[in-house]
Amino acid sequence: MSYRGRFAPSPTGALHFGSLVAAVGSWLVARYHGGQWLLRMEDIDPQREVPGAAKGILAALTAFGFETDEPVLFQSHRAGAYAAAFEHLRYAGHVFPCWCSRTELAAHGGLHRDGQCIARPDPARAPAWRLRSPDRTIEWVDDLQGPQAENLRAVAGDFVIRRVEGLWAYQLACVVDDGFQGITHVVRGADLLESTARQLYLQELLGLPHPGYLHLPLVLDTEGRKLSKSEKALPVDPADPLPALRGALAWLGLGVPEAATPAAMLAAALATFEPAALRRSSLTVARTL
Ligand code: GLU
Repeated sequence: MSYRGRFAPSPTGALHFGSLVAAVGSWLVARYHGGQWLLRMEDIDPQREVPGAAKGILAALTAFGFETDEPVLFQSHRAGAYAAAFEHLRYAGHVFPCWCSRTELAAHGGLHRDGQCIARPDPARAPAWRLRSPDRTIEWVDDLQGPQAENLRAVAGDFVIRRVEGLWAYQLACVVDDGFQGITHVVRGADLLESTARQLYLQELLGLPHPGYLHLPLVLDTEGRKLSKSEKALPVDPADPLPALRGALAWLGLGVPEAATPAAMLAAALATFEPAALRRSSLTVARTL
């Protein structure tokens, strides 16, 4: 089986240091295995999208020396595929409409675990659609974080796959597209480690193969919070890519080769790369990086 990896940013802001680390990590592991590296723009949430961010992220990735092996897949063009997967799940009886408000859910400990809506159906309002979560412990081995076990009902509950506004949830879109793009290995930030059980379960229900998973440690801010695009933290400068690229390699626990261009630096890093050398635990990064 040939390796196909991907980097899947959301256009909620400029490329930041945490995303650069995920891009570098996913690229190195894919190329180490002689594999392909694909790009997917996860632009399914217009409410969180920042105008121009998708273009900006793609331009930044080019400036950082990355080349995708196939045209970029935009999730905003994939509504038909998500609807088909949703209908498949609905026909098989795995989803239910839900009118619960946040307040009602909070009274239930924040998670929905009843397998059916606990509020009264309200035909005047559009429902969210939830996937019924079984009381089942899903086990898998993460290529960096080691053996994992997660009880779906306890951790995720009946999770939303279609939102009240009609928007597709990340979990569904991600699984449908990892399948569509033939992704064999997912390398991403450890904030999504917990999503993996939901995705393995969705793959099972949709008859999709399970890719391998490797979760890179998180880049935390000085207060120990995940560095996220929405906090607009540490955008990297595509006009001067080498310092941030050096920082990303060092942060991953890897040696930093000298090179004149980002592409040459990536190639030199690859020449000595071993997945076993990747740092495993999350780390705080100084804002000045
Ligand atoms: N779009 C997600 C993010 O930017 C990543 C999704 C994934 O890699 O599965 O955090």
